[in-house]
Amino acid sequence: MLIVLLGAPGVGKGTQAQILTQRYGLMRLATGDLLREEIAAGSELGRRVQAVMGRGELVSDAIIADLVRQRLDGAAAGRGVVFDGFPRTVAQAQLLEQLLHDLGRRRLDAVIQIDLPTEEIVRRISGRRSCTHCGALYHIEDHPPRSAGRCDRCGAQLVLREDDRPEVVAERLRVYHQHTALLLKFYQNGSHLVAVDGDGTVEEVSQRIQQALTAAT
Ligand code: AMP
Repeated sequence: MLIVLLGAPGVGKGTQAQILTQRYGLMRLATGDLLREEIAAGSELGRRVQAVMGRGELVSDAIIADLVRQRLDGAAAGRGVVFDGFPRTVAQAQLLEQLLHDLGRRRLDAVIQIDLPTEEIVRRISGRRSCTHCGALYHIEDHPPRSAGRCDRCGAQLVLREDDRPEVVAERLRVYHQHTALLLKFYQNGSHLVAVDGDGTVEEVSQRIQQALTAAT
């Protein structure tokens, strides 16, 4: 199964992608996580992308292409992939088609667009906290940790991501809207593009995605 999750930052793509990986045994390919891993590791690539990400802008298509190409090779043998935060531009969407073709895989099974009003996006992102060690996600109101500021799973410190600060979120949303119309147009021609309402509990949204997948596959 090959699924793309589209949607603005903060609509819940990461959470829903994790649910899909567990339900279907898929690999999650989240370019944002891969980039953050590079930064945490202090690699040359990490140093190159840190400032761009800190400003809420997009990393170049060439860098993303290299990252995805490396990861997708290994996934080809697996049960499938859920793409989270990729593609973000038409050039990346074209690259993905090409990579799947080169790997001898069929086309995408579903492209799911998660919609959410901007006020709710801002509320979710400003309350989001992530674990510095294992990456687990929390929300100070919707899904608080048992002990304030500490991860339930591993006990490490929880932080507000650098690019989840309000001024950067505004730029990330602007960049998202700038690219999204063209990306949706790309996927309207041919793929199984389905819009899903992202408002509601994690379980409610997950059920809607499930229904959309059943209809699309
Ligand atoms: P995310 O975790 O998906 O919200 O991504 C965080 C940041 O990483 C974005 O604001 C971009 O700077 C960068 N990024 C992640 N995925 C991509 C992508 N597919 N193309 C370009 N930049 C990306």
